[in-house]
Amino acid sequence: MKIAQVETYILSHHLNGSFFFSQWSYSERRICIVKITTDDGLVGWGEGYGPADIIQSGIKHLTPNLIGKNPIQNETLWFDLYRKSLDFARRGVLTASISALDIALWDIKGKYLNLPVSVLLGGQLRKRVVPYATGLYFSKENCLPKRLAEEARDYVKQGFRAIKMKVGLSIEKDIQHIKHVRNAIGDTPLMIDANHAYSLREALQLAKMAEPYNISWFEEPVSPEYYHQYKQLREKTSIPIAGGECEYLRFGFYELLKNNCLDILQLDICASGGLTEAKRIATLASTFGVEIVPHTWGTGIAFHAALHFIANLEPTPGRLYPPDFYIEYDRTENAIREQLTRPSLLMENGYINIPQSPGLGIEVNEKALHEFRVTHTSKVYKGSKQI
Ligand SMILES: [Mg+2]
Repeated sequence: MKIAQVETYILSHHLNGSFFFSQWSYSERRICIVKITTDDGLVGWGEGYGPADIIQSGIKHLTPNLIGKNPIQNETLWFDLYRKSLDFARRGVLTASISALDIALWDIKGKYLNLPVSVLLGGQLRKRVVPYATGLYFSKENCLPKRLAEEARDYVKQGFRAIKMKVGLSIEKDIQHIKHVRNAIGDTPLMIDANHAYSLREALQLAKMAEPYNISWFEEPVSPEYYHQYKQLREKTSIPIAGGECEYLRFGFYELLKNNCLDILQLDICASGGLTEAKRIATLASTFGVEIVPHTWGTGIAFHAALHFIANLEPTPGRLYPPDFYIEYDRTENAIREQLTRPSLLMENGYINIPQSPGLGIEVNEKALHEFRVTHTSKVYKGSKQI
C-alpha cells in the first residue's frame, strides 16, 4: 500500500456573533484539514491547529516526502518530515503541518488494521472521558457578568461536570466574573484561562484573589516563553498551574517539565507534533509525574484524535480507582465542528465514550466539506510522476 494523494482543505465559517479573549477576537473559524488517500483507496483525515493558510503551505511543502511511501510505517514518515523541517522550523506552524499529516496517517493505519487508533497507541485504559465545557468568552455587552453566569448555569444544565472560563481582561473584572460564575454553578469544578495575558506580579495577584473560589487550575497565566515565571508562580499559589498549548515537540515540553512549570500539561495534538509525538510527550511527562489534559480546538477530527490519545494515557499515579480523565470540549460557535464529521458527539451522563470503530472512528460529511470549503489543493501522483 502506498500514499497516492494528499489534499488540503481550508474551511471557513463566519460567526453570527463575534467573541473575544485576552489576546484577540474571533469573527471567523478558519481551519486547515488534510485528506490522505492510498493507492488502494483508503482515506485518512488530519487537522492542524494554527493559521490555516500557513499550515496548508506547510503540508504542500512536505507532501513530496510522503507520496509513494507506505503509510503503515508512520513513525518513520514522521521522522522524515521532522528532519525536513528541522533546519527552518524547530517549533511552530510547520510542526502543525506535520501534526495534521501524522494524524491522517494514524487514521489510515487504524482503518487498514481494522483497529481504533487508541488500541494502536497501546490500548484503552478507559472507555469514556469527561468533557469539560470551554466557553465563557468575553463579548461587548453591558451585563457581561450576568451573561457569563447564565452561560455557566446552562452548561451545568446540559450535564457538564466541569467548566473553564476566560480571564485576562483585568484583575478587577476577572474576579467579578469568577464570583458570578462560581455563584451560578455551585460546587462544579471551575478552571480559569488567561491565555498568557499577565505578568508574574499580576498573575500572582489574581491567583491569590481567586484561591477562595476553589479553582481547579489556572491556565496560561504568563507568557509561554517565561518558564521561570511559571515555576515561581506555581510555588506561590495553591491553584494548580496548567499550560503547554503554545509548546511544540518533546524538546519544548522537556523545558516546561524540567523547570517544574506545570501541574497539568496541555499539549495540542494538532500543533505539537501529532499523535506520534504526543505519545512521546506523554511518556516524558510520566517521568515527571505530571498529568495531561490536551488542549483541543477545531473540528471533530481534532476532537477524535484527542479522544483516542486520552483513552491511552496512563494515570499519574496509578491506583485501583483512578479519577476520570478530562477532554476539552469547545462550546463556542463553530458550525464546522458541529457538521463536518459523523457520528455526532454524544454526551451521556456527563461522559463521552471512546470510539470503537477503526481509525479515528469518523466519516467526513462531504456536503459540509464543500459547504465550508474556501480553498482546496490536491497533489496526485502516479508512480514518481506528478500529474
Ligand atoms: Mg487555553
